[in-house]
Amino acid sequence: MRHYTTEELDRYRNGDMNMLIRISCAGHLKQCSTCRNLLETVKQDDQLLEKVRNNLARFKAVSDEIPENKAAHHTS
Ligand SMILES: [Zn+2]
Repeated sequence: MRHYTTEELDRYRNGDMNMLIRISCAGHLKQCSTCRNLLETVKQDDQLLEKVRNNLARFKAVSDEIPENKAAHHTS
């Protein structure tokens, strides 16, 4: 039985996969705990990435406020 790679599971998760391959991948995941665990790892990596992205967005929002406040103060 061939196992799926992280890249393939990532594509499966994102729906970026040929329908037939998707179906056989889903069938494989039902039987294979190795690939299920790998899929979980891919999901967790993605959540971690999302957290980092959110933190960066928050940081950017904070640093964007500074010049805005200065501008508001300047015009008033
Ligand atoms: Zn497998």
